[in-house]
Amino acid sequence: MKLPNADKIKHIIRLVEGRAELIVRVRCPFCRTKNALLLIGSTDKYECQVCCLHGKLDDLIVYFEDEFEHRHRKTVKLMSERSAVEWRR
Ligand SMILES: [Zn+2]
Repeated sequence: MKLPNADKIKHIIRLVEGRAELIVRVRCPFCRTKNALLLIGSTDKYECQVCCLHGKLDDLIVYFEDEFEHRHRKTVKLMSERSAVEWRR
């Protein structure tokens, strides 16, 4: 993942002498609003700016893993079939 305008952001962090907090924003799995869910590394918490749900990052991982698995089940199946074919050669 590339950080857009990383040079400007790094410069600002230097100017505030490192007193900064990086927050990652992702789609909220609860209200499905794009970029509404804040992942706050320093507190190990997540917080949605729209539906206001909040909690620990560990609990959030479970939701995303379920979603991810559901989305990729078909792809994973195709990949394992393909590698099985290559194995036989
Ligand atoms: Zn939300």
